[in-house]
Amino acid sequence: MSTLNSNSPLALYLNGEWKNPGPPLEVTNPSTGEVIGSVSTVDRAGTRQAIADAESAWEVWKGLTGKERGTYLHAIAAGIEKRGDEIARAISLENGKPLAQAKGEVGMTLDHFQWFAEEAKRSYGRVVPNQLDGKRHLAIRQPIGVVGAIAPWNFPLVLAVRKVAPALAAGCPVLLKPASATPLCAVLLAEAIHEANLPKGVFQLLVGSAREIGPELMENPACRKITFTGSTEVGRELIRQSADQVKELSMELGGHAPFIIFDDADLDKAVEGALITKFRNTGQSCIASNRIYAQRGIYERFLDAFVEKAQALKVGDGMEDGVDIGPLIDEAAADTARQHIDAAVQSGARLLCGGKSPEGCGPNFLEATVLADVPEDTLCMTEETFAPVAPVSVFDDEDEAIRRANATEYGLAAYVFTENVNRAWRVAEALEAGTIGVNDSVPSTSQCPFGGMKHSGLGRELGTEGLDAFLETKHISFAQIS
Ligand code: NAP
Repeated sequence: MSTLNSNSPLALYLNGEWKNPGPPLEVTNPSTGEVIGSVSTVDRAGTRQAIADAESAWEVWKGLTGKERGTYLHAIAAGIEKRGDEIARAISLENGKPLAQAKGEVGMTLDHFQWFAEEAKRSYGRVVPNQLDGKRHLAIRQPIGVVGAIAPWNFPLVLAVRKVAPALAAGCPVLLKPASATPLCAVLLAEAIHEANLPKGVFQLLVGSAREIGPELMENPACRKITFTGSTEVGRELIRQSADQVKELSMELGGHAPFIIFDDADLDKAVEGALITKFRNTGQSCIASNRIYAQRGIYERFLDAFVEKAQALKVGDGMEDGVDIGPLIDEAAADTARQHIDAAVQSGARLLCGGKSPEGCGPNFLEATVLADVPEDTLCMTEETFAPVAPVSVFDDEDEAIRRANATEYGLAAYVFTENVNRAWRVAEALEAGTIGVNDSVPSTSQCPFGGMKHSGLGRELGTEGLDAFLETKHISFAQIS
């Protein structure tokens, strides 16, 4: 029987064993409101024990070669691939996203494991030229220690793995705390890790209240690093909490990506790019385009084509064939989106399509919504909407586009559509964001660094930087070598 069909609460993976330490947490399908399963939980004392077990496991894990750890990571990837359909189903059921997009998430997860399996062999140091006769200097890199990884619900598998895979590759034991809305795919990930026979305690799964697990991860000195993906609000709180322990942090926080279309853009490419960046994952993506700026010469043509395509997107249960837009994660998220739409309309924006739940769908659903002539100071232009709502605004010249795009506390991603290569370089270099897509609506990839500037975060995931995040640099100085 597959794990997902179990009638009893799913167990947590703690110190190499499956355990049921605390009361189950129910998991709900956001499409139907049905309870689809439950997972056991751990409290603060259980978290403390898991940290102690991880610390014991560290000796063994850091003693392996990078190649040996890489072999384990390849085995985990093989296990995920074998159960790819079941894992994608779990993601779609608990998060609501269309099944095809959940399968895409599983594919990217595999790629991340495979990338870091190879990177495990490459935690290079340096030989540094000496200034004094006889001295020799080395900078070596060593695993930082026990890692607490806190993940969000919007890409519940792949964003957890952006932490788990490099931490394991670097030689660090990891405690994964998934979002309470989406723990099922984390249990399946834990099963793949268990089947790959990692030493006990190297990977553990902590499901439960953030108020129980979070403070123990933050305050326990044996947990050396926190890697967090989630809202800027919670990120700020964790940064404050880290001060007493001077705890190492990586923070992947909120975004408010501008999507800039110049008059010289290829209209079809720009429309396709705006559709993908805005409506993929039902708009619940940290790199979703939140503000679409189109230059005056292309503005109305862009709106006509974009609205036509947005209206054709099928909204429904993520498990139904052909669905493009699933439900929002919960009713509160749908209410926020409706407030943003109402505020924009009240401040003079034109509602060109959407703005309501499709007939027959529940309150968590929202049609693809396009707003035009949206004033710069309305909610959807300043706060993350995290929904299929596309505010569009007109601009006149390049300087204005850059100034308005950068006028936000966020700096995660930005998109530029132009066929002028000189303009593409100028604008890409001027935008304040960690990732710039030039005529590219899907810029993230395992090999390249991902992360935010300004209030969008600290540090980078993926690429070679993804492994760096779990390594400390140590200088070794040799004197009197003759
Ligand atoms: P969230 O509310 O900040 O929660 C994220 C994770 O933090 C969850 O596991 C949550 O646990 C946990 N958490 C909440 N409060 C905590 C606390 N006080 N101490 C320790 N852990 C705590 O964010 P979300 O709503 O899940 O995710 C959406 C946000 O994430 C958006 O702002 C989005 O832009 C951002 N995001 C950023 C990136 C990126 O790479 N930069 C990627 C995806 C999403 P519970 O679920 O148990 O509350």
